[in-house]
Amino acid sequence: MVKQKTYFIRAFGCQFNKADAEKTAKVLEKKGYKLSPSLCGADLVIVLMCSVRQKSVEKVKSQIADLRKTDKQIILKGCILPSDKKMFEAMGVKFSFKGLSNSQIKKEKPKTGLVEIGQGCNNFCSYCVVPYTKGPEKYRSPLVIIGEVKYLIKKGVKDITLIAQNVNSYKFNRTNFVGLLKAVSNLEGDFKIGFLTNHPKDMSEALINVIATLPKIKKEIHLPLQSGSSKVLKRMNRHYTKQDYLKLIQKIRKKIPNVRLTTDIIVGFPGETENDFGDTLDVIKKAHFKQAFISKYSPREGTASFKLKDTIPLEEKKRKEQILLKLTKNNAKT
Ligand code: SF4
Repeated sequence: MVKQKTYFIRAFGCQFNKADAEKTAKVLEKKGYKLSPSLCGADLVIVLMCSVRQKSVEKVKSQIADLRKTDKQIILKGCILPSDKKMFEAMGVKFSFKGLSNSQIKKEKPKTGLVEIGQGCNNFCSYCVVPYTKGPEKYRSPLVIIGEVKYLIKKGVKDITLIAQNVNSYKFNRTNFVGLLKAVSNLEGDFKIGFLTNHPKDMSEALINVIATLPKIKKEIHLPLQSGSSKVLKRMNRHYTKQDYLKLIQKIRKKIPNVRLTTDIIVGFPGETENDFGDTLDVIKKAHFKQAFISKYSPREGTASFKLKDTIPLEEKKRKEQILLKLTKNNAKT
């Protein structure tokens, strides 16, 4: 009897890789592969990597080095910088597997579902590799998105999240993100819709109103701050100031009093002073985030900030991370 081939998927990084892992699994199962309960037992290992942080790249590198000692087939996918791709190619890693990119959603009875509405980013924040790994923003048609949402509703999924690197700059012909949210929330069924992730510069009044008024839209907004210092924000190429951000938060809280606000913050961006850090603490005190995801700045080759010196020692970044986590927890609005 011919032994059925098995696969195992290891996904690093953000929700895009998690969504991709689901699609990839579906394609492999159509090709006759069976999920292996562990990495050790798999014939084929798919690693969905993330070049955004050096730490993830190092983890993938060490995992690939171990896997290469076995006879497993290894495929690397995900968000990969050209310089990282070259390094992995030199290690003998493959980057494609026929049919792995065109697929549908997996899982027989999932409670939550991700629907990718687009990929890529045009913003070129100075620290970020995404515009280089994913390219410019490219969005899917509302018809296709609505089709996938309907499919999930039919499967009994109650919690659906629309995802894109910059979800609130969605545009397809004449439909913007507000139009898309309205169309999705008009669908029949018992479900809630969320979305990730937003750029503060694209958080329009119309979008806030739609979140406030449509019952099927979750009252949750993830609004990456990155830094509370207008000087650092400028060097990050974020296109808003501390004051712009605080005004936006005020507007959101006024329209959606029960909103669950979360954020992303980078500590130790090159040249960040104690005053700059003080501005970030000030925004946390005023914004009352429910949760903040803190990253320690890590220089990535090819980005604009790579040319700046990584001036803040790791110990200092760790100290700031702890202060921010504690302050966010003590200051969260319940
Ligand atoms: S908006 Fe987000 S994905 Fe785009 S460059 Fe900035 S941090 Fe990266």
